[in-house]
Amino acid sequence: MTSERDAMLSRLAGGSVDVLVVGGGINGAVAAAALAGHGVQVALVDRADFASGVSSHSSNLAWGGIKYLESGEWRLVRKLCLSRNRLMDAFPSTVREIRFFTSIQRGFRMWSVLVWLGALLYWLMGNCRMSAPRFLRRKTIIAEAPVINASEVVGGLEYSDCYLFDNDSRFVFNFIRRAMDAGATAANYTEVTALEFSSDQQHWQVSLRDCEANRDLQLTAKVVINATGPNVDRLNATVGVDTEHHHLLSKGVHLIVDRVTPLAKVLTFFASDGRLFFVIPMGPKTCIGTTDTQVARAEVSVSNEDRDFVLANANALLELPEPLTRDDIIAERVGVRPLAIAGADTSRDWVQLSRKHQLEIDDDRHFISIFGGKLTDCLNVGEELVAAVSQLGVITRSPEQRWYGEPDATDRRRFLERAQHLALDELTEDGVSEPLSLRFWRRYGNYANELLDTIGEHPDKAKLVIPEAEYTHAELELMSRREMIVHFDDFLRRRSKIALVVPGRSLRKESTLRGAARLLFGDSAAAKLAEYLEG
Ligand SMILES: Cc1cc2nc3c(=O)[nH]c(=O)nc-3n(C[C@H](O)[C@H](O)[C@H](O)COP(=O)(O)OP(=O)(O)OC[C@H]3O[C@@H](n4cnc5c(N)ncnc54)[C@H](O)[C@@H]3O)c2cc1C
Repeated sequence: MTSERDAMLSRLAGGSVDVLVVGGGINGAVAAAALAGHGVQVALVDRADFASGVSSHSSNLAWGGIKYLESGEWRLVRKLCLSRNRLMDAFPSTVREIRFFTSIQRGFRMWSVLVWLGALLYWLMGNCRMSAPRFLRRKTIIAEAPVINASEVVGGLEYSDCYLFDNDSRFVFNFIRRAMDAGATAANYTEVTALEFSSDQQHWQVSLRDCEANRDLQLTAKVVINATGPNVDRLNATVGVDTEHHHLLSKGVHLIVDRVTPLAKVLTFFASDGRLFFVIPMGPKTCIGTTDTQVARAEVSVSNEDRDFVLANANALLELPEPLTRDDIIAERVGVRPLAIAGADTSRDWVQLSRKHQLEIDDDRHFISIFGGKLTDCLNVGEELVAAVSQLGVITRSPEQRWYGEPDATDRRRFLERAQHLALDELTEDGVSEPLSLRFWRRYGNYANELLDTIGEHPDKAKLVIPEAEYTHAELELMSRREMIVHFDDFLRRRSKIALVVPGRSLRKESTLRGAARLLFGDSAAAKLAEYLEG
């Protein structure tokens, strides 16, 4: 049987599209979803897996950027708060409110009352959509969050923002899935190797390489969107596109360790370097970070210095039974923030740089570059790109339905009624964190109906496949059909967060993964499993 990826590559080969999106991180994903939703013929390619760049290394937060109040970026904060609210309304089961429990240490650059007033302003700027902030006295912090080392704490505050329930990369993939459902062509492991603009024909001649089969494809596109995140400048240089904006890159590291507190809140501190430091619940684990180090290249890895910075801060700020050591690290996340900067002056203090995104349009060569941005701001990026593409002469039409968001309440109700009729939740295995029906709906939207069909016929397919990971047989079959999983890591690290929460010593075993390999890869199971275990 032809895989969906093969079918997509066949469509690309020798074809022509209105718009080619290069890069399948959040910016590329929303570009494809918004354009496809507006009737544009769009193709998206990523040289690795979708969301394998920065978009799988974020803090998983959809937030209004409270910290930018300090640098007086009122408009940015207001915009991000409204973007967060829109995401929350559009993705009610994925983008969820969470409380941020912030403690202020003695000697901090601002009084805690002032910080609290900032949180109040922040709440107002978000149209009071979240629960109201509250001022925390030292004794309240000690009583409610005994895990916090209160020896130097003078007070604090609690306020709300949002987090992405499953993970950032799954959130991104769901935009790509939606784009494909609206007619877009998308392929992972497909690199753009050459781009040449023909002034006569007013289109781009694109050379692509299918990195899996090592074969070259040709395509023409009226417009090209460079959504390669930290690699935007590099691709622009290759193509000879000059831009006013460029990127400064800042490395951010998170470490994942066993759960340090049962408190389902983000603990927020100011680290030893004065910047924000988070202790974030991540399913059965805790994610701690982050660092903020300026780097010259997009390719980064976690150094011992990074690990020690994060661990030292966690140990100083938390009251733990035993200090965390490198041996406690279950998984690591490392990415670079692409920060947009006007001009070529790279001597600016990057910490002060705005997190605003910036589109640059080359009208003559029909080329759009996306600089900076955040997951939180993604809907605005999608909409601005539709306007930009239309400015370049591509015909767009008003969508019949919203190009983003979970299916509507009627679809959800129908799904839940069907699930109830099947007594699906009674098949939820012991010790699992939530009922099957809620989990299926959040992860797969209307595709969850296919799971009901499968489990209705074969109730045993509601059984979990990998110990400690909440994925059923039926889900893996569905993911194998619908989620363009080419390598094991695509499933374990990006469509799911299994590789982040299940320690490698129990996960990276033939006996643990054999069943999953068979469901995901069929005849190629043994080879894909060996590739993962040897990798
Ligand atoms: C530590 C950290 C924490 C963060 N936390 C948050 C947060 O909590 N909330 C928030 O809103 N934002 C957060 N951000 C910011 C956010 O994650 C990024 O701004 C966003 O993910 C960038 O997305 P992107 O699509 O621009 O880039 P990427 O996700 O890097 O996507 C670019 C894609 O292009 C592909 N590519 C590159 N070159 C080519 C080529 N030649 N051909 C084909 N494909 C190519 C890459 O493989 C990659 O998949 C954080 C960032 C960091 C680093």
